[in-house]
Amino acid sequence: MHFVYRVIIAIVLMSSLVTVKVVQATETDRLNLQGVNHELNQQPWIIYQQLQSQADEYINTSPNEHLWWLLRKAQAENLLYFFDKLQKTVKTAQSLINDKTPPRIVINFTIFQGIILQRDGKYQESQRILKQAKQAAKIHKYTDLLVTAKLELAYTRSLTELYESSLTDLQKAYVEAIALDDKFLVARINEVYGAIYGYLHDYGQSIEYYQKALTSYQQLGYPAHEVEAIYGIAVTYRYWEKYDLSLDYYYRYQKAINFSPNNVDGKFYALYGISMSLAGKGDCTKALAHIEEALNVTGLIDYKAELFKRQALCFIALNKLNLAEKSLDNAASIFAEIPELKDTRWQIEVIRIRAQLSQAKGEHEKAYNLLKLFNQKEVAQLRKNSADRLLRVRGTLEAERQNVEISLLQQRSKVHELKFAQQKQENLIQTYIISFVIMLILLGVAFIYFQWRYSKKLLALSFRDSLSNSYNRRYIFNFLDELISSNDLEKNQVSIMLIDIDDFKQINDLYGHSFGDKVIREVAKISNSTVRVEDAVGRVGGEEFLCVLPRIDSVQCLHIAQRLVKTVAEYDFYVENKGENQQQINITLSIGISTTSVETTNSADVYLEADKALYHAKYCGKNRAVKYQHIMQHSYLKQN
Ligand code: GH3
Ligand code: MG
Ligand code: MG
Repeated sequence: MHFVYRVIIAIVLMSSLVTVKVVQATETDRLNLQGVNHELNQQPWIIYQQLQSQADEYINTSPNEHLWWLLRKAQAENLLYFFDKLQKTVKTAQSLINDKTPPRIVINFTIFQGIILQRDGKYQESQRILKQAKQAAKIHKYTDLLVTAKLELAYTRSLTELYESSLTDLQKAYVEAIALDDKFLVARINEVYGAIYGYLHDYGQSIEYYQKALTSYQQLGYPAHEVEAIYGIAVTYRYWEKYDLSLDYYYRYQKAINFSPNNVDGKFYALYGISMSLAGKGDCTKALAHIEEALNVTGLIDYKAELFKRQALCFIALNKLNLAEKSLDNAASIFAEIPELKDTRWQIEVIRIRAQLSQAKGEHEKAYNLLKLFNQKEVAQLRKNSADRLLRVRGTLEAERQNVEISLLQQRSKVHELKFAQQKQENLIQTYIISFVIMLILLGVAFIYFQWRYSKKLLALSFRDSLSNSYNRRYIFNFLDELISSNDLEKNQVSIMLIDIDDFKQINDLYGHSFGDKVIREVAKISNSTVRVEDAVGRVGGEEFLCVLPRIDSVQCLHIAQRLVKTVAEYDFYVENKGENQQQINITLSIGISTTSVETTNSADVYLEADKALYHAKYCGKNRAVKYQHIMQHSYLKQN
């Protein structure tokens, strides 16, 4: 039954697969906007082009379709580094969003808004928006969006050096992503961990997290995210001052960004990284060329500030102090535009470089004051993010994180165990059912077998005589009737022998009835073994037998009868006497023989003739066989 069930399920599944295929085949030219997320991450450029070419279809269908289309477009633009286009798309979407817009769309666009603000360096505003997204995702129970908002929030916070709270937030997001079993979200969180640990100067840990993220992205086949992780690794190596490694990864990044055509931002980041690494290595000549190139490419403003700082240092090294001054002014004016970066490591570094410049210029007092100011600011900054406190927080977070992983693994193994137990139970039930069915079949077979044996026995009983085990009266007469009526008697004669035990009454009287029965049985046995297989012997009366012999003429029959008479006469019967020696008895038979002829063509006549012959045998002194002749008139039957 179970198998039938499974077969039905398999058929249903197969037919549903067929329908899915058909649906896919008919929808190749129209994207399923809600289900395209994975493909979009895998092939952002191809999907982006498809989205572009199908714009009219979605825009004119319904406001929600339009918004879904805009959302996918925004995602593609984000992955492809088309940040200007992304900004426009998000703006269009915001103008279309109303009370009836599905919350999933609204939250997604809110997150994008946060990301855009973060890229613009508007960290406070970005955090406010991302918090909104987080709240909305929580209310609507969209855990994936909640995790995304949290990780973006954590990353934005880390950019303003709020490492403690960003790590705490990230930790919660990580637990939720693990619970969702969402490989992609876990990878994204690992990527942010990589960034934060990088900022915390824990470079080994940072590389480890980035590598984890990179492996996951490679497994998922998400090129845009792979590129981001490669970039993260390059940056960390640069901070770690492992410039050769960082250059390796920046060059890898420069190649990998080609998944997106005309990737201006990617080009900028690659140039930025390469120039910073070269400068770090001390190769200022090469570095300055790259810095120049990078500054001429559109790029993030705060990164440009960093480039100016580097440029200034290189100019100081090359003793081009005026140029260094210019570079520093450029950097300072950028920081002045980003209040969030005030008093951060990046901003106060300008003061330190200015001190170096003053030193180079020989303005020692100015240099001293600047250095003093820098030190004050650095102490304040360090206090804000006490390394000790952070270490502690990180320690507990790491431990907590491991505990979460362990408990989740335990839960999963428990679920597996339960599933296994259930499977076992099902198998057991299946075995019971199979055994039961087999038992039923065996019982059925046994029943049929016994029924068959019983009916065979019944059939045998219906034509056997129970005492002598030869045929009974009804059978033997039927046999004779059928033989005579169906045979061509001219060609095939039928002979019969009517056998009667001599003086049987006396035998009964002298030796008892049971001995008489034994005699009947043994005479039947001797008769059967004397005649051929095709001849039939039947008991027709108390101690009388009729033997039917097909295709035997009267002469042959007489010979057989005489042989039988002789065999029985010579046979020793033994009477069992209690306590005494066995007594040996001899018994004789008389046989009347008749054969079909031109006149005798029915069984009754043949039988009557045999009877007359038997009478004659008795009359002539018994212990003999007599063939019927016309002169014989007396019947043995009449006598009895
Ligand atoms: P005859 O030589 O003329 O045949 O003499 P007989 O004594 O055999 O005479 P008859 O054929 O008339 O006797 C048959 C006797 O067989 C009568 C009856 O008591 C006995 N008898 C009939 N059926 C059975 C039986 O089933 N078992 C035993 N033991 N005796 C039977
Ligand atoms: Mg008799
Ligand atoms: Mg007799």
